[in-house]
Amino acid sequence: MWLSEEYLGSQTNDVSSRKTSVKKTNKKKTKKIKSSKAVASKKKLKRGKSTQKAVAQKTKSKRKNNVHKIHVILDSGHGGRDPGASAGSRKNKDIIYEDEVVYDISKRMSKLFKKQGIIVHPTLADPNQKQPIRYLSHRHDRDEHLLVTPRYLTRNARIGVNMRVYLVNHIFKQLRKKKVPSENILFISLHGDALHSSLSGAMVYYPDHRLRRGRFILSSKIYRKRKEYISKLTYNPRDNKYSEKLSKSFGKVIINQFRKLRLRTHRVSSAVRGYLYRKGIKTLPAVLRYSKVPTSVLVEIANLNNRLDRRDLLKSKTRQQIAKAITNSVTAHFDRSSGLVAQR
Ligand SMILES: [Zn+2]
Repeated sequence: MWLSEEYLGSQTNDVSSRKTSVKKTNKKKTKKIKSSKAVASKKKLKRGKSTQKAVAQKTKSKRKNNVHKIHVILDSGHGGRDPGASAGSRKNKDIIYEDEVVYDISKRMSKLFKKQGIIVHPTLADPNQKQPIRYLSHRHDRDEHLLVTPRYLTRNARIGVNMRVYLVNHIFKQLRKKKVPSENILFISLHGDALHSSLSGAMVYYPDHRLRRGRFILSSKIYRKRKEYISKLTYNPRDNKYSEKLSKSFGKVIINQFRKLRLRTHRVSSAVRGYLYRKGIKTLPAVLRYSKVPTSVLVEIANLNNRLDRRDLLKSKTRQQIAKAITNSVTAHFDRSSGLVAQR
């Protein structure tokens, strides 16, 4: 349904259906309260009033959590045999691998999101590293896999990116089926830059609508055998423009949050971009170009080639601050765009 024109064509329908679903939830709530009160009053005889209060409160918080939550599809770039960028040297003890540093930050973000009641859908997992780590391993491990079914051990960078396109769009589709409003779903892809060593700090990419493509169709068996495979993904200009607007605004919030925490970013004018140049041609990272999630950004957390950035990234404190900046951006984004308010 998320692909069809009926849905994509009318935002108003989307809003009204959201309202009805909220009403429905409200009805359910009243029922729930009634029954929980009944249960509570029976228990009252045995345990007294305080229990009743506790039960009611528990029901209340449960209810609150059921109204459209915020969902973040969190993509940690590269992994497996594809380390992404790497810089520094063993001799200087500042060697750093992009996939390892962004994975650690993604783990930190997941923890912070959980505390805020935001639901995280990761795209990548390392079975041997479920928690953030204090010291980034100088050794590059290769056991990260993409959470498609069956799992894909990232052997090839290009396939890994295409696989992510299917995975991200699949998660989005599933959430839409559960009537989660599309504005409540965010896609964040984490990467590290490998620019000229004189440049430093974070920047954010959003999908400029002019760089989108009409369709995404791959027919190789490696994709077809995955549960997440979608035979034909199509994109229309109206959605692309809407997505650009939402994503750009979210990107600005992210850069602001970085600055707030005194983390380095590119200059104001160049820290939020709709495209990048590759061999002199404007282009977009594939995960942004083919994402169906209206709010989609790719965050370059820092420039690995810059000595100061590298030194900072090796400190767990900086990685924690970066994680904080990005997670705070999500709540700040929803506070700002109160028209699209989501309840946490
Ligand atoms: Zn990367």
